Amino acid sequence: MKIAFFSTKPYDRKFFDLANEKFGHEITYFESKLRRETLKLAEGYDCACVFVNDQIDASVLIALAAQGTRLVALRCAGFNNVDINSAKELGVAVVRVPAYSPYAVAEHTVGLMLALNRKVYWANSRVKEGNFSLDGLLGFDMRNRTVGLVGTGKIGECVANILNGFGCEIIAYDKFENQACLDLGVKYVERDELFARADIISLHCPLFKETYHLVDMDAIAKMKKGVMIINTSRGALIDARAAIEALKSEKIGYLGIDVYEEEEELFFEDKTFEIRTDDVFARLTTFPNVVITGHQAYFTEEAVSAIANTTLENISSYEKGDDLTNAVTPD
Ligand code: NAD
Repeated sequence: MKIAFFSTKPYDRKFFDLANEKFGHEITYFESKLRRETLKLAEGYDCACVFVNDQIDASVLIALAAQGTRLVALRCAGFNNVDINSAKELGVAVVRVPAYSPYAVAEHTVGLMLALNRKVYWANSRVKEGNFSLDGLLGFDMRNRTVGLVGTGKIGECVANILNGFGCEIIAYDKFENQACLDLGVKYVERDELFARADIISLHCPLFKETYHLVDMDAIAKMKKGVMIINTSRGALIDARAAIEALKSEKIGYLGIDVYEEEEELFFEDKTFEIRTDDVFARLTTFPNVVITGHQAYFTEEAVSAIANTTLENISSYEKGDDLTNAVTPD
C-alpha cells in the first residue's frame, strides 16, 4: 500500500524500514506533521500514517477522503487527535496500536517517581560540580506508601505490578475492575477517596471529554498536602495552570510529567535556540520539584519495534480486506 508517513524522525525510519522488509509497503517519509497546511503531501496515498501530535480533525479528514486516502494508521495507542465520528461518516478507516509495550510506559512512570523522590536529577548535577552535600536530597521509602492509580488498563496494571514489588499500598479508580490488579491486592475506591488517601497519584486513563482536566483546582484541593502527581498518559488530564498554583502553595510536593497539554508545538523537536513563548510550560520548568520528559515513556527498542510491526500489519490487514482487529470506531 502507498503510505504517506507523517512526523518522521530518524528512529522511525530505522524501525519501519526494518519491519517493512516483511510487508513490502511503499512508504514515503515526511518530517512534517499532518495538519490542514500539509494535507497536499498525502495526495495520491492510500494511507496516512500518523503519530500523537498530528491533527486529524474533521476538515483534515474531509480533505484526505477527497484526495483518495482511505486509511489513517495511528502508530500509537491514544486516538484523541482523530475525529473518529467524522472518519466513520466519510468511510475513512482508522487503526491504532492498542498495545506495544505497557512495560515501557510503566517503567518510565516509576522512574519519574523515583527520580522525584530521591532527587536523582539534582544529585547528579551536584556531584558533577563537586558538591557532595546531601542537604535537600532527603527522600522517603516507597514501601508502605499509598499509591493511587487512575486507570488500571494495560499500563496501570504494569505499574501496579512494579509498585507491589516495592511494598506500596495500591488503591485505584477505574470504571472497570481489572482482575489481575485485584489478585495483586489492589483496592478499588471512588475517585475522591483516591485523591484524599494517596501519597502518590499516577494517571493511566485515556483522554476523553470526561477525563479532560481530571486534575484541576477542585481535585487538587481534595489531595494530601505534598502529594506526588505523575502523568505519563495525556497532557490535558492535568490543568497545568492549577498545578502551578498548587506547586506554589506547596500543596503539590512533586510533579512528574511525560506529557503536556500544549506539547504539540514543543515535544519531539530541538528547540534549544528558539525563544520559548509558552509561559505555562516555562513556569513549570522553574520548580525544583518538577521533572518533565518529552513524551518518551514509550521509547524503548521493544516498544518502537512492536509499534512498527503492528502498524504495518494493520495496514496489510486493511489492504487484504481482513477484519480490522485494531480499528478505532465511535462508541
Ligand atoms: P488501556 O485502554 O489498557 O487502559 C485505560 C484504562 O483507563 C481502562 O482500564 C479504562 O477503563 C480506564 N478508564 C477509562 N476512563 C476512565 C475514567 N474516566 N477514569 C478512570 N479510568 C478510566 O490503556 P493503556 O494502554 O493502559 O494506556 C493508558 C494511556 O496511556 C493511553 O490512553 C495513552 O494516552 C497513554 N500512553 C502514553 C504513552 C507515553 O509514551 N507517554 C504511551 C502509551 C500510552
